[in-house]
Amino acid sequence: MRLVLLGPPGAGKGTLAQVLSKDWNVVHVSTGDMLREALKNRTPLGLKAKAFMENGKLVPDEIVIGLVSERLLKKDAERGFILDGFPRTVEQAKELDKEIKKLKMPITTVLYFKTSLPVIIRRLSGRRVCQNCGKNYHVTNFPPKAQGVCDACGGKLIQRPDDKEETIEERLKVYEKETSPLVDYYKKEKLLQEVPGDLDVQELGTHLNEIFKKKGLLDR
Ligand code: ADP
Ligand code: ZN
Repeated sequence: MRLVLLGPPGAGKGTLAQVLSKDWNVVHVSTGDMLREALKNRTPLGLKAKAFMENGKLVPDEIVIGLVSERLLKKDAERGFILDGFPRTVEQAKELDKEIKKLKMPITTVLYFKTSLPVIIRRLSGRRVCQNCGKNYHVTNFPPKAQGVCDACGGKLIQRPDDKEETIEERLKVYEKETSPLVDYYKKEKLLQEVPGDLDVQELGTHLNEIFKKKGLLDR
């Protein structure tokens, strides 16, 4: 199974990817997580990406393309992968096409999360992440067992700097302009599968397993 998750910030791509990658034993490739990790470790790449991320802008294509290409070459990606947050521009999509052709790992399907604006805003403003391991929570939808503390590692939960209201607005604008053209791009390639992003993640997971079973995608 090789999936691309497409949709606005706050659509629940990351949360669903965490669930599905476990269910199906495939790798979860999140460019946002990779960039945050690079930033945490103060690598040159991370430092280059910092200002873009904090202001809700896209990191330049060549940086993220490099990260993803490298990741897909690793052995574990042969089992399958879920791309979360990549591609985000037409340029990135074209590069991905080239890459997967070379690797002979065609995309099985592109899930397009159709999500309404109030849901997006509620999810992003309530999101909290573990400072230590990066796991996602939500103040009401997925609260941790102890307030402010990560269930998995005991790390402190914080709000991402780009989940502040002003930055959310900028990210949504960038999505409309740069990323939403990918809906048509993948429609043309006959890979697009629309999914109801407003559903909560458990419901969505069940819904997807049904669709995939019906389409015979589960063992591809
Ligand atoms: P979300 O999907 O919630 O907006 P991500 O964690 O996917 O957040 O991304 C956070 C930030 O990382 C983005 O706002 C952007 O600055 C950067 N980023 C992540 N993926 C990409 C990408 N494919 N291209 C350019 N920038 C990216
Ligand atoms: Zn943690």
